[in-house]
Amino acid sequence: MKFDILTLFPDMFDILNESIIGRAEKKGLIEFNTTNIRDFAINKHGQVDDYPYGGGYGMVMQPQPIYDAYMKVCEPLDKKPHVIYMSPKGKVLTQKRASELSEMEHIVILCGHYEGVDQRIIDKIVDEEISIGDYVLTGGELPAMVLIDTVSRMIEGVLKTEESFTLESHYNGLLEHPQYTRPPEFMGEKVPDVLLSGDHKKIEEWRKEMSYKETLNKRPDLLNK
Ligand code: SAM
Repeated sequence: MKFDILTLFPDMFDILNESIIGRAEKKGLIEFNTTNIRDFAINKHGQVDDYPYGGGYGMVMQPQPIYDAYMKVCEPLDKKPHVIYMSPKGKVLTQKRASELSEMEHIVILCGHYEGVDQRIIDKIVDEEISIGDYVLTGGELPAMVLIDTVSRMIEGVLKTEESFTLESHYNGLLEHPQYTRPPEFMGEKVPDVLLSGDHKKIEEWRKEMSYKETLNKRPDLLNK
């Protein structure tokens, strides 16, 4: 699976070279490239933003450099890639949508900055707007990394076993049961006996029950869904 990121801050994506996602790229399971929108500015100062028509504060990213950066990415392709604009106006990202996106071959992610991007570029190239939550960040780079991370870990081979994500919070609509590791006692607090019993059926039942309890206590809205 390939991600092409259109951004003004390509260096921010270096962080993706770390950890599980970095290893997945080295293994060839995923590929991500960045394209610097500023390289497509047509004025000699490299300016890619301008004042909003109608007045108001802040600057808006101009459509032309974004379009040219996008066309550069599309040059070698024979079909249009799926284009996502990271935006606080988009549908909030869910595990379900991330799972659907993990089936795609090629995703282009547009990261906005300042007051966002000119509406005409959204109308022209964007298939979907995705938000990572109902709050506003400075730019689309962190949201894009959130999207890439959550989609990538559902691609076959990225995690050691598929169970690593199918049993986790949100995959089946519930939160995960609590987890414990060594030592069996920490500051007087013991690991629940059932987890040390070796009885897999009982452990499974306990985990299911705790999963419902966690969801009921922390996110009852999920049960209503
Ligand atoms: N003026 C815009 C508005 O009110 O909707 C907000 C622009 S925001 C400061 C700059 C950029 O950050 C956006 O173009 C978008 O790419 C990104 N961004 C901010 N919050 C986001 C969120 N919750 N989810 C995804 N992207 C976000």
